[in-house]
Amino acid sequence: MLSLSHAATGAFLAAKLQNPLLYIPIILASHYLEDYILHWDVGTGLSNGTRKREHAFMLEVIDLGLTAVLVFAMYPTTPWTITQHVFAGQWTSLAPYIGAFFALVPDFIEAPRNFFHWNPWFLKPLNAFHHAIHHSTPNMLLGLTPQLILLAGLWFFR
Ligand SMILES: [Zn+2]
Repeated sequence: MLSLSHAATGAFLAAKLQNPLLYIPIILASHYLEDYILHWDVGTGLSNGTRKREHAFMLEVIDLGLTAVLVFAMYPTTPWTITQHVFAGQWTSLAPYIGAFFALVPDFIEAPRNFFHWNPWFLKPLNAFHHAIHHSTPNMLLGLTPQLILLAGLWFFR
């Protein structure tokens, strides 16, 4: 799925669950679960060559920009508040942002393979699992509908 969908899910779960020992494994599992659902994302078409690497990279930058906007719209804060909470070690108030980050980890570790042809041995099993569980469609309407429903639900219950 789009970074937008994964990160919003991660932010939501972390905000609700609060305990990182609980939310980090659940958020990582949510990433693979969401990728299992038929979807469209910026990597769609990369493996069969219908989308160019440069194009996917540009779309990913846009996706990540929108992701930051959405996560901070769902859980508003200021750079000053974040800094204060980091220095005070108040990790619970930072949960949505930590959750959003962990929700993207499976894609971050695949990025070197997708964009720079670098797939080191220690990432290979994880990337193979990610790829195996992934269901995508070039049909944007079909592939974006489940993500729009998901985002609407997350926004509503945040
Ligand atoms: Zn993924």
